Amino acid sequence: MRTPLMAGNWKMNKTVDEAVAMVNELKDLVADAEDVDVAICAPAVDLYAMNEVVGDTNIDLGAQNMYYKESGAYTAELSPSMIKSVGCKYAIIGHSERREIFGETDELLNLKLKTAFANDIVPILCIGEKLSEREAGTHFDRVKFQLAANLSGVEADDVKNMVLAYEPLWAIGTGKTATPEQAEEIIKFIRETVEEMYDADTAEAVRIQYGGSVKPHNVKEIMAQPNIDGALVGGASLEAESFSKIVKFK
Ligand code: PGA
Repeated sequence: MRTPLMAGNWKMNKTVDEAVAMVNELKDLVADAEDVDVAICAPAVDLYAMNEVVGDTNIDLGAQNMYYKESGAYTAELSPSMIKSVGCKYAIIGHSERREIFGETDELLNLKLKTAFANDIVPILCIGEKLSEREAGTHFDRVKFQLAANLSGVEADDVKNMVLAYEPLWAIGTGKTATPEQAEEIIKFIRETVEEMYDADTAEAVRIQYGGSVKPHNVKEIMAQPNIDGALVGGASLEAESFSKIVKFK
């Protein structure tokens, strides 16, 4: 009953011309994709031009970040209405690169999430453990802590409509994927934790993606896992042909 979401995260890649060329190619390749939602989370400067191209296709747009204030003296930040004005349905919140490189805290991410809900933006909240935590066996505690901190004060109805992305840091951009069984094990645990925090309906409704070196050759076995509802794709989303194969994983 949960429609999978295949979302590309382009990170800091593609000029406007490159972005427009890629979505032009992608829209034809994925036009016949069924029972799957498709999104590209692009650099902010690309979104306006991309929005002209994606129009009434089945490709939605997302921002890679968003601030929690509506306007004001916050140099370089983007407000929810700004990203909506260029067609964004989604916003990635708390990608591990934002957490690790740019020092975004759980408290800040909680504010961003609440602001996204208040503005009808669907947040894709990224959670996941570092290699040292996986090796120490504390990865379950880690994601549980992140869920409690990031979702603090968030209502069940909002959780039902959001997207969670489990992304183990050691699998991002490394070519090293969690095995489908490892991914399923912790994503099932994430769903159970949502049930503990909220209720069974909320846990059943929330979409949980896997992210970390998802490629055309491994997407099918990842998507065969019962609790995995799509992928957040970095490297393999930069090229239309490979991303379309991920979208059409069936
Ligand atoms: P990757 O990135 O697919 O290049 O590993 C995933 C992500 O960071 O969202």
